[in-house]
Amino acid sequence: MRLLVVEDEEKLAQLVKRALLAERFSVDVAHDGREGLELATSYDYDLIILDLLLPQLDGSEILRRVRRGNPRVPILILTARDAVVDKVAHFEAGADDYLTKPFAMAELVVRVKALLRRGTVRRESVLRVADLELDRLTQQVRRGGKRIELTAKEYGLLEYLMANSDRVLSRNMIIDHVWDQSFTGAMNIVDVYVRHLRDKIGDPDQKLIRTVRGVGYVIVTEEPA
Ligand code: CA
Repeated sequence: MRLLVVEDEEKLAQLVKRALLAERFSVDVAHDGREGLELATSYDYDLIILDLLLPQLDGSEILRRVRRGNPRVPILILTARDAVVDKVAHFEAGADDYLTKPFAMAELVVRVKALLRRGTVRRESVLRVADLELDRLTQQVRRGGKRIELTAKEYGLLEYLMANSDRVLSRNMIIDHVWDQSFTGAMNIVDVYVRHLRDKIGDPDQKLIRTVRGVGYVIVTEEPA
């Protein structure tokens, strides 16, 4: 899953990024309001963490503008302001949660995960496709009960496929969700990772992860008749 962090305090932004990377999310960081708005409206993020006091463009304004085009993306507000009236105003403007600085990284991570579970695509903590099982809380993957070790990117790719089972995902969509903005490599990175994933989950005949020629990939829940 791909997250956006809009935070102008560089040190805090890096701490947040590191905490989220450790949870295997892909993370983009914007250090001012303008960049934040541009990223938030350019990519299909799974969640946005938004500071309120930002140079160039205020977090409240970003919140309003993002909500106009995207009513669904979960938005967690970070701020030093803790006045009740502020909180009410931001919930009304479409924020989903609110964290007052200073905060513990562990709390941020818990809230992020809780918000992601609430969303509209598959947010269950355990995803299942055939005898393949992915547990988002423990980040363990099993097939037929047997544990499979994956790298962070392989895990991210499998989670994205399983959360969208039976839906064809283009290479572009996969890059957008599993890699972050710093990715500048070739599209065929996706093919390379799918190959690794098929090897590891034991899918040599591509019955689970199917190639859709010219488009991308889909993980299928049912065997064809
Ligand atoms: Ca700030």
